[in-house]
Amino acid sequence: MKQIYVATTNKGKIKEFQDMFSSLDIEMVSLMDAFDDVEDVEETGTTFEENARLKADTYSKTYNIPVMADDSGLAVDALNGDPGIYSARYAGLEKNDTQNIEKLLKNLKGIQNRDAAFVSVIAYADPGKETIVAEGRCEGQITKEPQGTQGFGYDPVFIPKGYQQTMAELGPEVKNKISHRKRALDAMIDMIKD
Ligand code: IMP
Repeated sequence: MKQIYVATTNKGKIKEFQDMFSSLDIEMVSLMDAFDDVEDVEETGTTFEENARLKADTYSKTYNIPVMADDSGLAVDALNGDPGIYSARYAGLEKNDTQNIEKLLKNLKGIQNRDAAFVSVIAYADPGKETIVAEGRCEGQITKEPQGTQGFGYDPVFIPKGYQQTMAELGPEVKNKISHRKRALDAMIDMIKD
């Protein structure tokens, strides 16, 4: 069985990848569990794609193994795509979800256009082959107040298109069917199958 290493410490993400690839006879292994000397790759790119490629390419070259890496975030139309690649550290370096949401709602105060999208880009680097990239988007609207307790990040302020509740109210069953990550993974699986 082919093994692909996933470059994330997020257990939820690793499980999502494992579930999606189980039907393809591919085993998804956590890179950080497999090697104990994995160093952070600085996300110096200016787009989700550049950062995803940077991580997949660097780790694949370092260990000479196939690696999948993703970069994701929230892009808000009225803020010209912000917080974008800075989603995790929008309100500062400590990656605080509550403070990030507070800053977002403050910056959107009085603004009628609440259109936004969660974006996920996955890069897959296999030694000797060209790196491939897949993108998934989940369109929606930003609420005026946080609602719901499930999920993480900006889930309490994001209502996906076609729904009346936030991702944090809808919960994982709905989210995992419509999320940006699910759509990027679907697109990646289609490319790998080909
Ligand atoms: P990363 O790609 O895991 O580094 O995620 C970057 C940041 O984007 C997270 O810290 C969250 O703030 C935000 N984000 C990414 N995906 C989601 C999601 O599914 N729900 C809520 N926020 C998300």
